[in-house]
Amino acid sequence: MRVLEKAPAKINLSLDVLHKRQDGFHEVKMIMTTIDLADRVELIELSKDEIRIVSHNRFVPDDQRNLAYQAAKLLKDRFQVKKGISISITKTIPVAAGLAGGSSDAAATLRGLNRLWNLGLSMDELAKIGAEIGSDVSFCVYGGTALATGRGEIIQHIDPPPHCWVVLAKPTIGVSTADVYKNLKIHSLKHPDVDGMVKALHHGDYHQICHLMGNVLESVTLHMHPEVSIIKEQMKRFGADAVLMSGSGPTVFGLVQYESRLPRVYNGLRGFCDQVFAVRMLGDVNSLD
Ligand code: ATP
Repeated sequence: MRVLEKAPAKINLSLDVLHKRQDGFHEVKMIMTTIDLADRVELIELSKDEIRIVSHNRFVPDDQRNLAYQAAKLLKDRFQVKKGISISITKTIPVAAGLAGGSSDAAATLRGLNRLWNLGLSMDELAKIGAEIGSDVSFCVYGGTALATGRGEIIQHIDPPPHCWVVLAKPTIGVSTADVYKNLKIHSLKHPDVDGMVKALHHGDYHQICHLMGNVLESVTLHMHPEVSIIKEQMKRFGADAVLMSGSGPTVFGLVQYESRLPRVYNGLRGFCDQVFAVRMLGDVNSLD
């Protein structure tokens, strides 16, 4: 028996940090949406009772550090499944990039094992289990477009963005999410209008969406890695309608409304970065099909 799941990347159209909580996590308020850039997760039953990770990417751990491994272990222990599983991950999403690649692999593993092992869990139940693995896993279980609050695990589904294109450029630096949060100056942040963005999405107002894009984590990452600012400027210069860093970075994304303008932005960035993608915005809940 084998099951194949798509694990799409997310971008943050808006990301705000409200305060640091007693439990050490930061209270966030952010808008996440899926894009047409995905890893492939293939689950195959094994005769031996073990969890095996198969990945040919040297940046992806093949042991219990892999978030997909943790997802399988959690389900296996909780529902006392005495079966082995091989999790084969074909990476397309850049690693440690602010695109939730690992979280999406974990979410795909939860969805796939729910089917393979006939666990009968609802998406809400899977999202709750996902939150035990990482804050972004809950959103990745559903995909689509959501307002995420709490430490990112409280999900409210909202309207998807109107059709457009997304150009992504990842510089060759790695950024640790923990380091970015550690260096965040919480009292001097310029907060984006997250509620305004929810409204703009509701009205399908592309220009207002572009106008309201904002991410407080840029204040840290752009300072630590000036090359991210340079990529932002280049992307704007080559004609993207709006440009922002995703998550804690370092990936920069730009929105492009008209396909005719896409090659100019994409090719312009290829000169600066090895990893450049031009993909469709997905944003709706069918983005996992
Ligand atoms: P987020 O946007 O949720 O902060 P990210 O896109 O910045 O995540 P990931 O690609 O998920 O970061 O990887 C972060 C780290 O997690 C990597 O350095 C890697 O060691 C580890 N990791 C664990 N499982 C995976 C996986 N399945 N794919 C990629 N990285 C993984």
